[in-house]
Amino acid sequence: MIPAAFEYYAPTTVAEAAKLLAKHGDDAKLLAGGHSLIPLMKLRLAQPKAVIDLRGVSELSYIKEASGGLSIGATTTYYQITSSRAVAKAAPVLAEAAGMVADVQVRNMGTIGGSLSHADPAGDLPAVVLALNASISTATSAGKGRTVPIDSWFVGLLTTSIKPGEIVTGVSIPALAHMTGTAYEKFANKASRYAIVGVAAVITLDTSGACKDVRIGVTGAGPHAVRAAKTEAALKGKKLDEATIQKAAGAAADGIDCLSDVHASAEYRTHLTKVCAMRAIQKAASRAK
Ligand SMILES: Cc1cc2nc3c(=O)[nH]c(=O)nc-3n(C[C@H](O)[C@H](O)[C@H](O)COP(=O)(O)OP(=O)(O)OC[C@H]3O[C@@H](n4cnc5c(N)ncnc54)[C@H](O)[C@@H]3O)c2cc1C
Repeated sequence: MIPAAFEYYAPTTVAEAAKLLAKHGDDAKLLAGGHSLIPLMKLRLAQPKAVIDLRGVSELSYIKEASGGLSIGATTTYYQITSSRAVAKAAPVLAEAAGMVADVQVRNMGTIGGSLSHADPAGDLPAVVLALNASISTATSAGKGRTVPIDSWFVGLLTTSIKPGEIVTGVSIPALAHMTGTAYEKFANKASRYAIVGVAAVITLDTSGACKDVRIGVTGAGPHAVRAAKTEAALKGKKLDEATIQKAAGAAADGIDCLSDVHASAEYRTHLTKVCAMRAIQKAASRAK
């Protein structure tokens, strides 16, 4: 399939890209790795008149350590994330999940900013950034950039709280507390590796071994990634023995309107959410140190 005709722009700075986006408005699409946008354009489900390519904007590609946490530029690829020592140290679950995305070709091209902007219901990183309590930075041509807490970023199917004219510039991840363990468990589509369901867990234990803090992100199950609030509440303050974990994981799909499609029924997704949650919690708790 061949996309509809479009004008192609290759800015080299965020300011230049934001200006182009402001000029072309709804007729424009930003291009990052292209691994979601280009297939949509080929199918003519997206027909932007202007494509603004961010790959030449070098200031958007970085991984920086920041007060024990991380600051990651929007066009940083999955490959750069999964092979970064800084990410392995400060947010190992992000490196783990980025390494599970698709195949090496997709990981070499796809970007964290593209993934979080596209908000595919089966994308891996949305669950992980929710569990890591990340925040997203944006920029506009009018200097009205924002920092958006991740809990208010994913709002619907392929929909985020990004505003017209905004470019995602980066993702900030706070430092993990002492005695924290992290894990990502996914049941992948055998062909694409997209998550039928994926669950990320970030668990902090106190000195007695009880759960002091926990964030669980779920992707694949519903129209957009969400936190498993009931599971988190059922773990907090408790010793994480088998019975507690099993009971808490059993609530992981509560409140999610599970999708039903050619890949899995809603019933199967509900089951997978509980299983992935149990495994992610067990693994994260065993890694807490
Ligand atoms: C065969 C295949 C298998 C895949 N398997 C998986 C998988 O297992 N797990 C997974 O998570 N994903 C998977 N993907 C999707 C892949 O991760 C995409 O790369 C990702 O969803 C989008 O990132 P991108 O950088 O390619 O964005 P693009 O396709 O370039 O852009 C996607 C959307 O985000 C917007 N956008 C991009 N960057 C910005 C920005 N900085 N600011 C604002 N808006 C922006 C674009 O305008 C567009 O609307 C797969 C894709 C393919 C083709």
